[in-house]
Amino acid sequence: NTEETSLHVAIVPTPGMGHLIPLLEFAKVLVHRYPNFEVTFIVPNVGSPMKHQRQLLQALPKSISSISLPPVSFEDLPEDVKMETRIALCLVRSLPALKTSLKVLVESTRLVALVVDLFGIDAIDVFKEFDLKPYIFFPTTAMNLQMAFNLPKLDHMFSCEYRDLPEPIKLPGCVPFHGRDMVDAVQDKNNVAYQVMIQLCRLYPLAAGIMVNSFMDLEEEAFKALMEGELGLPAVYPVGPLIQASSISSNNGVDGSNCLRWLDEQPNGSVIYVCFGSGGTFSLEQLNELALGLEMSGQRFLWVVKSPAEKARNATYFGVESVEDPLDFLPDGFLERTKGVGLLVPSWAPQIEVLRHGSTGGFLTHCGWNSTLEAIAHGVPLIAWPLYAEQKMNAVLLADDLKVAWRVKENENRVVGREDIANFVKGLIEGEEGKVLRNKMRQLKDAAERVLSPDGSSTKSLAKVAEIWKNQA
Ligand code: UDP
Repeated sequence: NTEETSLHVAIVPTPGMGHLIPLLEFAKVLVHRYPNFEVTFIVPNVGSPMKHQRQLLQALPKSISSISLPPVSFEDLPEDVKMETRIALCLVRSLPALKTSLKVLVESTRLVALVVDLFGIDAIDVFKEFDLKPYIFFPTTAMNLQMAFNLPKLDHMFSCEYRDLPEPIKLPGCVPFHGRDMVDAVQDKNNVAYQVMIQLCRLYPLAAGIMVNSFMDLEEEAFKALMEGELGLPAVYPVGPLIQASSISSNNGVDGSNCLRWLDEQPNGSVIYVCFGSGGTFSLEQLNELALGLEMSGQRFLWVVKSPAEKARNATYFGVESVEDPLDFLPDGFLERTKGVGLLVPSWAPQIEVLRHGSTGGFLTHCGWNSTLEAIAHGVPLIAWPLYAEQKMNAVLLADDLKVAWRVKENENRVVGREDIANFVKGLIEGEEGKVLRNKMRQLKDAAERVLSPDGSSTKSLAKVAEIWKNQA
């Protein structure tokens, strides 16, 4: 009886923990609230050791399954190919296998919707063959979506590099930002990554709808502008903040117990948590400066530390583990001098549990959007140290608009100095100015709870999407 058969949703994530994690949360919320939905993840695969990704995919509820596509090879690519180009290529090279998997789903389930992330729309021609119009799950802000819709226009308007524009850029509903803060991939117009981005942004308007992992109270004006925007643009649904409930239960390989035990022993609100996401890495010089800055602040710290990488700031994006022992690269005597005051965790920490812990008083973050939402949901104020992707845009929103973060400044050698780090950390944990940020963050935390309550705006947005999908059947 078809009436009783589950409705099926296919989700195609692109490489990166920051893409996979929120899509998994989206799927979990969907099947939890609407038990007649089932989800299949079709996962393109870059072949590098994505241990945490595998663990996440193995710990899913019964109504969510996953198919891993055969690994694609990047061996023919030059080393300096940008991350965005690699992500896009991973999808392109996975298309034949993706087609085969989709065919099986179309023939064996009641497939009512297809969801892709911000890179997945590139496979739109393949989806057309199956008569599927994809929904986009946009894992970052409404402000970045507004930028994406406007990028083809900005491309026409300005022939110079965006970072050389003298005036800030003003988009509807968004705080003004400098061209140098735009996403990494558009910072060099001669790089293929720029064409990749322009091509993607031209495709966004063809989506059936766009779900954004942000919420009304956080970006009300930007959402309003998107919703009242030009005719013909897809409907935009604020559905966030969708974050993991726990980093331990889902990442069963993470033994977070020593971090949490250490936090248990520290005073309330006294620890700065320092973590730059799955990809973030520093040069040796910057790593040392950060270590000395933390030491100089005199504050307690919990630092997820990775081995240095000289060329890229996202060296662990396609596989989060450092190969060498990161502790070998710290300044002489640092470990002894900070013993008891600081705890160093190589590569990966149970971030949700750390942010939820009462001893955590602040977060020095790369402003990855998942980390940001996790901090908001737990009311932890921020020091913003954006590194790559769209993180600088996120830092603008957090520091200039929402005023829940201070943003670090690089000196002329592109290094953030130890004094600045020390002052920010001390000010956030101990200072009166830190309290202002903390109070503001607590208001956002309350708002985040409200929008996800049964009557909340994000709950209602998702209900609209689910209704449309049900009617597809
Ligand atoms: N994360 C974690 N432990 C770590 C580093 C990261 O659990 O040591 C999780 C974090 O909670 C977040 C995700 O990995 O959910 C990182 O996503 P984000 O968007 O912040 O940054 P990205 O890794 O994509 O740059």
